[in-house]
Amino acid sequence: MSMEDYDFLFKIVLIGNAGVGKTCLVRRFTQGLFPPGQGATIGVDFMIKTVEINGEKVKLQIWDTAGQERFRSITQSYYRSANALILTYDITCEESFRCLPEWLREIEQYASNKVITVLVGNKIDLAERREVSQQRAEEFSEAQDMYYLETSAKESDNVEKLFLDLAYRLISEA
Ligand code: GDP
Ligand code: MG
Repeated sequence: MSMEDYDFLFKIVLIGNAGVGKTCLVRRFTQGLFPPGQGATIGVDFMIKTVEINGEKVKLQIWDTAGQERFRSITQSYYRSANALILTYDITCEESFRCLPEWLREIEQYASNKVITVLVGNKIDLAERREVSQQRAEEFSEAQDMYYLETSAKESDNVEKLFLDLAYRLISEA
């Protein structure tokens, strides 16, 4: 069996403000590491992880974008072929939640209309510093027809679930 052997290949792109934990989520899932031991993401970079769902080999190509405004021109071209988007905010950072409509406008403008978007509230290990309630995020995600999950890249809470649930949904809609 060759290393290229898989039943499905999906492209997943992480977006959201800088500092919300996108790189940490990807590294946690693909390498089991926290902290990732690398500096800020420059431009766009991707990691591969193959998971097995119901006996099917699902290869996930996970693109970690930098959230900074000045990098947006780089990331826009990557929206187009994405099968799924992980729109991430930080539950301890109101500002990262308030920017979500801006990200949604980008998605609407650049992503496929078939893209699956998951809203992720990261850093739940910092619950004592929470600024965005679960209820607000639930209401927002429901209004936008997005799946919603809270994670901790640090404690590895829901990180595996995030990617596996997404892979499952991608297969279901493929
Ligand atoms: P990015 O700019 O969205 O890629 O964010 P990073 O992954 O670089 O993380 C930004 C900062 O948040 C770093 O200092 C991380 O150590 C920290 N961080 C990321 N995820 C978590 C988490 O789940 N919990 C905590 N406490 N810190 C986190
Ligand atoms: Mg990063």
